Amino acid sequence: STAGQWVSRFEQELCARTGAAHAVAVTNGTVALRLALHLVGVSADDEVLLPPLSFVATANAVAHLGAVPHFVDVEAGSVGMDPTALSARLEAVAERREGGVFNRSTGRRLACVLPVHVFGHPARIQELRAVAEAWGLPLVEDAAEALGSWFDGTHCGLFGAVGTLSFNGNKLITTGGGGALLTNDTSLANRARHLSTTAKQPHPWAFFHDAVGWNDRLPNLNAALGVDQLEDLDRRLEAKRQLFQ
Ligand SMILES: *Cc1c(COP(=O)(O)O)cnc(C)c1O
Repeated sequence: STAGQWVSRFEQELCARTGAAHAVAVTNGTVALRLALHLVGVSADDEVLLPPLSFVATANAVAHLGAVPHFVDVEAGSVGMDPTALSARLEAVAERREGGVFNRSTGRRLACVLPVHVFGHPARIQELRAVAEAWGLPLVEDAAEALGSWFDGTHCGLFGAVGTLSFNGNKLITTGGGGALLTNDTSLANRARHLSTTAKQPHPWAFFHDAVGWNDRLPNLNAALGVDQLEDLDRRLEAKRQLFQ
């Protein structure tokens, strides 16, 4: 089932590998993104700022919440979202009003900045975070391809509110399908666990669910594979670096 000792162990080892205070293992990277966006308050008819250079799942996760992707271009150096383009875009369309930051041309709320660390190469995340902070927008990082990628002493996914990983077969490690949220925010991690396990209140026999939850947790069997795969991560990262050279 989705509750088991391998899930906890896999999460602990992800924390040890990334320096995250909390890891929450889920069924895939798309689900991890959808949950992360929901946790920072993205809801129907909001807009999320994201780069057009990514796998389709980044935009899909936005749409799964009924929100609308708002693309901001990438820059050549990092192939991640361009902080200058983000800043210029917000200056051009955004306005602060009661209830948040709004897109003047569509009337929709701008709810989140969602950069992607493409092919494990860190985006200019500190500059992107500075722009997001200046506008009071939460930062969620799609680090699906970036397990083992660090920038300035911090693992990708840990610069903003929450980051997400994927363990699909084409990623750094695989659980035969899986994903995770990384965060240093304890209350966000607790809400992620709660909402990904049907929002059931702990009780010996009664079934009380205090929100509309999801059944998103990684099965124990997949987590066991993940624990084994992590033992090979250093070798794989080294092989990737050699290929790059
Ligand atoms: C793989 C990937 C995802 C989605 O992960 P799945 O586990 O396939 O759902 C999201 N974003 C990026 C950038 C990816 O490469």
